[in-house]
Amino acid sequence: MVSKTSTRVVKSVPFRGTHVANTAKSTMRLIKALTCFVTLSVCGTPLAAVELEEALAAEGKHFLAIPVSTANHETSIPITVVNGQSPGPTLLILAGVHGSEYAPILASQRFGVALDPAHLSGAVIIVHMANLPAYLGRTIYTSPVDGLNLNRLFPGKATGSLSERIAYILTSELYPLADAVLDVHSGDGNEDLRPFWTGYYAQAGNPEVISESKAMAYAFGLQYVVPFQWQLSDPSDAIWAGSAAVALDIPSIDVEAGGMGIVDDEAVAVIEEGFHRILAHMGIIKKIYPTPQNQKVIYDRQSIKSPIDGSWVSLKSAGETVSEGELLGYVTNWHGHRVFDARSPKDGMLMLRLSAPPAKAGETLAVVASTRAANKDD
Ligand SMILES: [Zn+2]
Repeated sequence: MVSKTSTRVVKSVPFRGTHVANTAKSTMRLIKALTCFVTLSVCGTPLAAVELEEALAAEGKHFLAIPVSTANHETSIPITVVNGQSPGPTLLILAGVHGSEYAPILASQRFGVALDPAHLSGAVIIVHMANLPAYLGRTIYTSPVDGLNLNRLFPGKATGSLSERIAYILTSELYPLADAVLDVHSGDGNEDLRPFWTGYYAQAGNPEVISESKAMAYAFGLQYVVPFQWQLSDPSDAIWAGSAAVALDIPSIDVEAGGMGIVDDEAVAVIEEGFHRILAHMGIIKKIYPTPQNQKVIYDRQSIKSPIDGSWVSLKSAGETVSEGELLGYVTNWHGHRVFDARSPKDGMLMLRLSAPPAKAGETLAVVASTRAANKDD
């Protein structure tokens, strides 16, 4: 953590969809930070919360590493907190929930290095790698430590496995500080994803949260937007990072750009620009971006799953237009004999496909979706 130049009361300006009154929240932050700074034993607040509260009580840029451990494993969550000179809302950016999704991780690092606190009214908390074990282990989907998919474990468990504890710290220590959450992904290391898109929960959470999440999904600036149809019937069902935010009444969007385990400069660039657009949308920076034109809605996503463990041979690229019944690829057995044809279930766009051969029974090989122009009712 860098040294702090000053301590001040952070007063916030209203932000649509704010889940807690900002001024009250900021005052609570400061009191808590000062109390915990004096004596940890009195407040009993976890170290993560103390460091975050301190960073949010002092102007400037702060580099944190929040420790996470079990009896057998330990890791940390690298975070940059950029706290502006003026009061305002707080944006939380999550990258690296999946460790082999590199475009979001690189975009978050470049963004954190470049962001100047002098130009901010409010604060940005950037989680560069939520899942450092998966990043260092070069694993797709899951952590090499406990074999679990972090993005299926929210809100996490305080005394669970390493991945469950990471989810718990994010949910319990970082989310309450945020007025909005961006959960940034790409296709995983074995997934070709096109087009790039933002998604929001169109049926989950209170109307204000839905409205603000939707506004953020369009403001991020990508051409395609997915309104998720999942409904929040029980907060414990909110197992994804984004849905866990919505369950706490925090506006949230998912971002998907990049994939295939490569450093995709185009994806990194659009994610970085999207971060700036969201800062402008929230009033954290004073900049006016042109309204995105010709935005489209992706709907009726249909998956083709492999019936067996085998080798996937892909015949298409993500982003291609496909017709009902068209052959997208096939799965062979271990000896190379073709045993399953993957055909498009409908006319549409191939928006995701496995780009590497390993295929497990029940896993998605490809996703075909429909698109239409967004309209004022979206
Ligand atoms: Zn992901």
